[in-house]
Amino acid sequence: MSKGNIGVTSDNIFPVIKKFLYSDHEIFLRELVSNAVDATQKLKTLASVGEFKGELGDLKVRVSVDKSKGTLTISDRGIGMTADEIDKYINQIAFSGAEEFLEKYKNDAQAIIGHFGLGFYSSFMVSKKVEIFTQSFKEGTTAQHWSCKGDPEYTLEDTIKSDRGTDIVLHIDDENIDFLEESKIQELLTKYCKFLPVEIAFGKKKDWKDGKQVETEDDNIINNPNPAWTRKPADLKEEDYDAFYKELYPFGEDPLFHIHLNVDYPFNLTGILYFPKIKNNIDMQRNKIQLYCNQVFVTDHVENIVPEYLTLLHGVIDSPDIPLNVSRSYLQSDANVKKISGHITKKVADRLADIFKNERPDFESKWDNLKVFIQYGMLSDEKFYERAEKFALLKNVDGKYFTFDEYKELVKANQEDKNGDLIYLYANNADEQYSYIQHAKDKGYDVLLMDGQLDVHVVSQLEQKFEKTRFVRVDSDVIDKIIQKDDTAKVELTNEQRDALVTVFDSQIPAIDKTNFIVSFEQLSPTANPVFITQNEFMRRMKEMSALQGGMMSFYGEMPDSYNLVVNTAHPVIDRLLKDEEAACNAEVAPVVSELTEAESKKTKIKDSHKDKKDEEIPAAEKAEIEELEKQIAELTARKKAVYSTFAAGNKQVRQLIDLALLANNMLKGEALANFVKRSVELM
Ligand code: ADP
Repeated sequence: MSKGNIGVTSDNIFPVIKKFLYSDHEIFLRELVSNAVDATQKLKTLASVGEFKGELGDLKVRVSVDKSKGTLTISDRGIGMTADEIDKYINQIAFSGAEEFLEKYKNDAQAIIGHFGLGFYSSFMVSKKVEIFTQSFKEGTTAQHWSCKGDPEYTLEDTIKSDRGTDIVLHIDDENIDFLEESKIQELLTKYCKFLPVEIAFGKKKDWKDGKQVETEDDNIINNPNPAWTRKPADLKEEDYDAFYKELYPFGEDPLFHIHLNVDYPFNLTGILYFPKIKNNIDMQRNKIQLYCNQVFVTDHVENIVPEYLTLLHGVIDSPDIPLNVSRSYLQSDANVKKISGHITKKVADRLADIFKNERPDFESKWDNLKVFIQYGMLSDEKFYERAEKFALLKNVDGKYFTFDEYKELVKANQEDKNGDLIYLYANNADEQYSYIQHAKDKGYDVLLMDGQLDVHVVSQLEQKFEKTRFVRVDSDVIDKIIQKDDTAKVELTNEQRDALVTVFDSQIPAIDKTNFIVSFEQLSPTANPVFITQNEFMRRMKEMSALQGGMMSFYGEMPDSYNLVVNTAHPVIDRLLKDEEAACNAEVAPVVSELTEAESKKTKIKDSHKDKKDEEIPAAEKAEIEELEKQIAELTARKKAVYSTFAAGNKQVRQLIDLALLANNMLKGEALANFVKRSVELM
């Protein structure tokens, strides 16, 4: 038997392992199982080149738990180790510059493991004692028993081991007894070892018999040693890709399509990425890509390896060239990682371009599900935008799809306004904005459907990218004003008529929470609707963006919704209403108006005489007179308004016109809607 001290330059590596590594201590199992797999693979390689001539036999790696003894054992039938090899690979830990390194990475447990090949020693994170029983494949060597209690001292002695290979026996310490639970080990093996290239057996398969769970003869195999991404694309059918997706995400909905990655220069990368059907919440879909290193699971947090929008994809990336065990900030600056990220972006764009080119109907049928992903990419990555602008689609309210170029071609001739701006009309709800869409269509215009969660941002982006182009929602104004072809007809109303109509309508607009209306006039076609509701494009967009972003934009979010109630003065109904109003109100209003005119002209006259005077030069009497006149004007105005309001209240048509406009805008609800129905029947 020999004794010795483990060769570390630092005094004692074990406190470090325990202290700094415990946050992620479950990875010890990954490290030990992959060592076992490596030893097995090495033996297979030796056999294939004729250096090992014996029987390979059953090469499964076996993991077992003995709760009564408090041990967890990982066994393989790989190359094993001789006494010299234990000394070299286990006892001499390459650990130069330990202090300096520990200082630097003391908060980053993973870095320590990766840099110093501490894989095996990570077992001390959970064990009070670790034993190795190993028999090398080399003829004439004696089996070895190595034992260490988590201090620099170890023992190494000859032993008897009937079988080739290595058993690593962990005596789990008291703080970590959950690693003696079968379910826990099953969970960890499934997480880290699901696709290791050598079969991993954990106990026996269980079966249900007479309502009880019983063990069968068959090994419980944890992994699929030949996952789809390690096979050649030519050997795989569509079904194989779908089946592999189910293996990764048993409860996932079928993906839209996949990309098989296979690069060996200038870095090594394999994998399969899937486009999932993206429903609503972007964040829900994240962290689905799994990162592997030679089939060993590393992480499903790939934010630093692929661009953010690509984290919406699902699937697997496997690369021995991604530095796995270093800190996240380091990853971001790593040249290999950058290249890999760029490569994946290119592959994804190429694949989309390819499907678009060769299978456009299929691409269109999947567009609605793909669009969030593509738009996200276009908004966040200029390079991706440049590629995607050729295959990104716009969909119109009739469900037709166009590329950006095709759409421009479609609307170019017809939708240019008098300033030469090309106007892209859009709706975000084809049902609610039906009448506005109809008005646009009547003019021969096309209307896009922009109902996706990122469309507000896309609209802004495209406005910046496209030359002399504006996106305007169909209900943001009357159509002739949205696409103004020539100077619109002037509204021909006297000031008094304007005042009267404003009051008539204003007094009858129902109160809606957090909503303002401003009455305005347009001289439109006599066949257009008599009253419309529109909402300013700019204000609405600001509010929409604030709803998505919060923060500094929330100022807009707090503002009430402001709508225009547009009265079409060319419509015969409005003309008649005006005549009715004049007939009903003139007698009463005329004397008020003449008094008002008189008061106003008096006030103007006095004010005019003050023009060149300073405040202190104005006689107090005149100031008092102005005050008196203003009071009088306010009182007369109120009286006039009262007359118009009374008229409006007694005229069912006013309320009917407003309600029709609200109804067309999907804003007539509850009691107001019931009243409208009742009034409509009465008017029949
Ligand atoms: P790494 O695996 O990163 O080299 P480890 O500390 O995990 O670092 O292992 C050190 C070395 O010990 C391995 O490279 C290998 O030569 C040897 N070794 C570990 N486990 C086994 C095993 N189960 N069978 C044979 N050799 C092993």
